[in-house]
Amino acid sequence: MTDFLKCNHCGFECKGLTLHLKYKHSQTPKEYREQFPDAEIFSKSVRKQMSASNPLKGTTCTFEERYGDRADEIKAKIGKSQGRLEKERNGLDKQKQ
Ligand SMILES: [Zn+2]
Repeated sequence: MTDFLKCNHCGFECKGLTLHLKYKHSQTPKEYREQFPDAEIFSKSVRKQMSASNPLKGTTCTFEERYGDRADEIKAKIGKSQGRLEKERNGLDKQKQ
């Protein structure tokens, strides 16, 4: 079963376009979705994994999960959504302790 997405800009095939968009097209997934409303950022299997590993949100994972080592840099760029995520994470931390 093929489970790859095609980049609508250049036809590049991969399972997650986040990094590809950033490096090749200097575009955030959000901008990509605005430009191509029907396009997916992650392949089916990746989305399945993400929702399975993150029971809180079907499609939203932490910046660290999504961007790895570049999480901090990207968080700085997306100030607004960071605040929301931080809130969620702080809530989680409190529950854990
Ligand atoms: Zn591309």
